[in-house]
Amino acid sequence: MSTGFFWDERCFWHGGGNYAGMLPVGGLVQPMQGGLPESPETKRRLKNLMDVTGLSAELVMQGAPPADRDDLLRVHPASYLDAFQAMSDAGGGEMGRRTPFGPGGYEIASLSAGLAKAAVLAVLKGDLTNAYALSRPPGHHCLPDYPNGFCLLNNIGVAIEAARAAGLAKRFAVLDWDVHHGNGTEAVFYDRADVLTISVHQDRNYPMDSGDFADRGRGDGLGYNLNIPLPPGVGHTGYLAALDRLALPAIRDFAPDVLIIACGYDAAANDPLGRMLATAETFAMMTRRVMDTVDKIVMVHEGGYSETYVPFCGHAVLQEMSGSQICAPDPFAEVFPLRQPAPHFDAYLNGVLADMVAVLKG
Ligand code: ZN
Repeated sequence: MSTGFFWDERCFWHGGGNYAGMLPVGGLVQPMQGGLPESPETKRRLKNLMDVTGLSAELVMQGAPPADRDDLLRVHPASYLDAFQAMSDAGGGEMGRRTPFGPGGYEIASLSAGLAKAAVLAVLKGDLTNAYALSRPPGHHCLPDYPNGFCLLNNIGVAIEAARAAGLAKRFAVLDWDVHHGNGTEAVFYDRADVLTISVHQDRNYPMDSGDFADRGRGDGLGYNLNIPLPPGVGHTGYLAALDRLALPAIRDFAPDVLIIACGYDAAANDPLGRMLATAETFAMMTRRVMDTVDKIVMVHEGGYSETYVPFCGHAVLQEMSGSQICAPDPFAEVFPLRQPAPHFDAYLNGVLADMVAVLKG
């Protein structure tokens, strides 16, 4: 059994823009140390933690070539790629919404997509049992022609289309457990019956106007998109119940050749951009569940903005994927215990999920 870990130092060098948290600096908004929440530190610290515990040494650590223009054109129109490349060559800037980038941003984003592509191809070829791509910038919000939410290229979309073009697979499923709606991946495959897209997210977090349960796909794709919006705060119990009762049965029915997880960690309890209460154990348990559902799985890193907690959540995922004995004990375990919700809250969550299950079965 071998687990691949695809990463590149240059992905940590992506950056740009003058932000104070989510706000552009200006007027009464004072500049802030660190700028955008999408900083390199969450990802770099995950890699560092794996090096320190020794988990890295048990994985197949590797880089990958950037996604090339043909790869990107399968998802993004030439007009968008040309404009992005021109602004990147001119020193950087910002397109869309909250997606600043610096000089060379186009090349770094292509590299990020290339890591996802290489991870999916390696697993489908049987070179690895499973794989993790430490992609940065993230991808799941990026529409074909509109970057948003820190995402400049749709990494998972590019990876799926590259695998299809190579003749390695025909049926793909995407499970997005980032706390935000995977609106970009949904948009890329909304008309398609050969790619099942599922997003479990906090209801009306980001984007505010997408991610409804009623959005099931269009045309041939009708029935092949599933949004599972959860009320804020349901955390551990809510995420596992959403997987058990809705997401995993849908994936099992679809029987994909490969399952790609848009692996964000912003459902974690102390994330500044989410209001959920998941823990490292939640992510480990979700990983175990997807491994028990589909043979070939690939994780592509998305959001997650707690510099202290993302490394431990990611380490738990990679320990589970690799079957390693090397553990990084959760330092927040006592702060965020896996409490069962209060009975009235449990009943509320059950009601929310039961309504969705009833519609799917009806
Ligand atoms: Zn997110």
